[in-house]
Amino acid sequence: MDYRGFFEDAVDALRQEKRYRVFADLERIAGQFPRAIYRDAADNQREITIWCSNDYLGMGQNPRVIAAMQDTAAKLGVGAGGTRNISGTNRPLVELERSLADLHRKDAALVFTSGFVSNEAAISTIARLLPDCIIFSDQLNHASMIQGVRQSGMQKQIFRHNDVGHLRELLAAVDRQRPKLIVFESVYSMDGDVAPIKEICDLAEEFGALTYIDEVHAVGMYGPRGGGIAERDGLMERIDIIEGTLAKGFGVMGGYVAANRAIIDAVRSYAPEFIFTTALPPALCAAARASIEHLKVSGAERAAHQRQAQLTKDILADAGLPVLRTNTHIVPVIVGDARACKAASDMLLEKHNIYIQPINYPTVPKGTERLRITPTPLHSDEMIIELRHALVSVWSALQLPRERPTEKVSASKLMSGQLTLPTVGG
Ligand SMILES: *Cc1c(COP(=O)(O)O)cnc(C)c1O
Repeated sequence: MDYRGFFEDAVDALRQEKRYRVFADLERIAGQFPRAIYRDAADNQREITIWCSNDYLGMGQNPRVIAAMQDTAAKLGVGAGGTRNISGTNRPLVELERSLADLHRKDAALVFTSGFVSNEAAISTIARLLPDCIIFSDQLNHASMIQGVRQSGMQKQIFRHNDVGHLRELLAAVDRQRPKLIVFESVYSMDGDVAPIKEICDLAEEFGALTYIDEVHAVGMYGPRGGGIAERDGLMERIDIIEGTLAKGFGVMGGYVAANRAIIDAVRSYAPEFIFTTALPPALCAAARASIEHLKVSGAERAAHQRQAQLTKDILADAGLPVLRTNTHIVPVIVGDARACKAASDMLLEKHNIYIQPINYPTVPKGTERLRITPTPLHSDEMIIELRHALVSVWSALQLPRERPTEKVSASKLMSGQLTLPTVGG
């Protein structure tokens, strides 16, 4: 067999569909985020502004966070030295888990190497341990949650995105005694919409289900101490398992779940994704903890984040650009075509020194391709004006559609109809 040719063809198939991904070679400049040095294919470099980072609050360059990482690396060295079972548990990791349990007001927390791994490990292990468990999963859940559901091997029911009526129907059709797990997100990162958390908790109570929430796009950013949307809405207590990342709002790396002691101990004891991999190194743990503790007491980043996100939405909408109005910090601008979306992104980078990754299928449904803009507290008002001019110029040059997206255009609304689901998330 021509193995090489086979793999080349596999990648060509993606190119044909305009789904082939090219990564931008960026060097972020600490102290000047969101500015970065970009290197093109010919290795020419220039300074650009990043408008699509998931380091939502710029905590990745916070001086206290950097100092925690540097000091800990200098004192404890860089690696963890093994799995948690084999000498990998380090002091900063123990302290990080305490800090997370406190953040979510739970008994305990368990840290993984990424948010992806935490979802896969926790969902699959919890569902697998419960006899004949049935999982109720939101239609737009992240790829890592879908992976956890699959990996569990248990039966699943997909409920239409944020549709509590549909969830109720599905729950009511199952034997009251059967163990049930409802898995969903708080902020959905492509449309920036928020789950009806209270209503889902009410249903869980009524039908005797466990609740599992992914707060990846909310921790650090919502709630008086950065505990997420569930904290903001006074619902943390009603959620059984809260999952988050240390890599987005907190600006470092790693993932976690927080829950009661029994659940955490079970996942710790049974999940291969936790047991058989090297622990997070001490310096990363110390940096993540510094970031979490800072955001527990400082609301300044959260306030500035919301202000700049709102200003961006207002200014872009005012310029007649097709902005999806959201209630969160995520600002999607709909293009509606894969080729045009890539062209817009390329032109922003080449002509305007602005980096916004195109978001195409299968991350979002076909016809809803978009630029997903994530303003941070460190994007100044001037930068927002610059962005407006750049987008208006690109929209004219490429003759992109300007109609304000109706609700139909949003991925969730489209997907709650009878349209087929993409097979891969991410
Ligand atoms: C990014 C993301 C994850 C994975 O988190 P990482 O720490 O980046 O692995 C999980 N869930 C959602 C909804 C995400 O967007």
